[in-house]
Amino acid sequence: MTATTHSMHGPSARLAPFGESIFTTMTRLAVEHKAVNLGQGFPDFDGPDFVKQAAQRAIAEGHGQYARAFGLPETNRAIALAAKRTCGFDADPDLEVTVTAGCTEAIAACLLGLLSPGDEVVLLDPSYDSYAACVAMAGGVARRVRLEGPDFRITRASLSAAFSSRTKAILLNSPHNPTGRMFDDVECAIVADLAEQHDAIILSDEVYDAITYARPHRSIAQMPGLRERTVILGSLGKTFSLTGWKIGWAIAPPSITAGIRCAHQFLTFCAATPLQRAAADALTAVCRDETYLGQLRAEYAARRSLMLEVLNEAGFRCVEPEGSYFILADAIEAGFPDDVTAARRLVAEAGVAAIPTSSFHDPANADRRWLRFAFCKRESTMLDARRRLQANPPRRLAERAV
Ligand code: GLN
Repeated sequence: MTATTHSMHGPSARLAPFGESIFTTMTRLAVEHKAVNLGQGFPDFDGPDFVKQAAQRAIAEGHGQYARAFGLPETNRAIALAAKRTCGFDADPDLEVTVTAGCTEAIAACLLGLLSPGDEVVLLDPSYDSYAACVAMAGGVARRVRLEGPDFRITRASLSAAFSSRTKAILLNSPHNPTGRMFDDVECAIVADLAEQHDAIILSDEVYDAITYARPHRSIAQMPGLRERTVILGSLGKTFSLTGWKIGWAIAPPSITAGIRCAHQFLTFCAATPLQRAAADALTAVCRDETYLGQLRAEYAARRSLMLEVLNEAGFRCVEPEGSYFILADAIEAGFPDDVTAARRLVAEAGVAAIPTSSFHDPANADRRWLRFAFCKRESTMLDARRRLQANPPRRLAERAV
């Protein structure tokens, strides 16, 4: 008998540095330790009935086949209407809007559709983990700028050093995951200036635009002269607490849209048809009557207060978010050597899962200080976390040797 040789087929060289996403790892550990999961950012409550019913109707009526690749006409129209409402932005639904399978696909389609090998993309660390991975998949080079806590402000000095003649794009995310920052006009003007000087595209991830505390969201695309170089990236998931639906979009001028659509047609071709119909109904409804959005903001403001209280009581120094549903807590000040140790000990010994944010950094230059707690959770979930942190205060864990 001939012996079979088994060769090892691991990830491609492009993806080898990335490994398993921290969200998958922490959710697995949360399940293993029966912990309260304040790690992966998904609501543990359901989306609104009016949106779920719209999807049920769409499925009952048929609509089981592919949609137009760049989106159902009514969905593109509703997204354009929503952009007008949130940012006063006039988009042509058929020429400038592309519907994607979640914002994550929109980001991938932008990078794959717009970058040529060797093109550079500026990332502001901590940055969402898919950004650097998608830049790598597209054959680009990430130029990562580290924003320093607890303020996480964009400064001209640090940002200008990352731009070069090879810069193709900068990825901006506001409200920001994981810091909760909403970059202000001064910071956006720095981004705008540098993008203009280097003729770079601004990819603006605005998926948390409906979840704001300090002031209403403003898109960088609203700044004078930026329209022709900005892609607004959005999604349904956070605004309607339906992260599993994976309906997202990219809004960009026609020339940029051509590249995005070219990649999108070969990635997923189109997003799920009945969910696109429901998205159209949901977005149109909140443009007509903003009651739902006001309630969403009020509910998140209450969750944010409770979560800050729980974390402060537990002895954590926290960063108060201006937007998004995340709070950063200082693991080092609480006595841990770094964020990963803190996350591993908290999930195993206190039964509370959080995300170590060093995974949002260039591994060669990571800030290992901050833990991210998600508060898109029911009050009862957060109270459960409070009891667990009271029983096993982080400082006591940190002092106790393993
Ligand atoms: N956006 C979510 C977060 O930041 C995670 C999504 C995912 O699991 N990839 O927690």
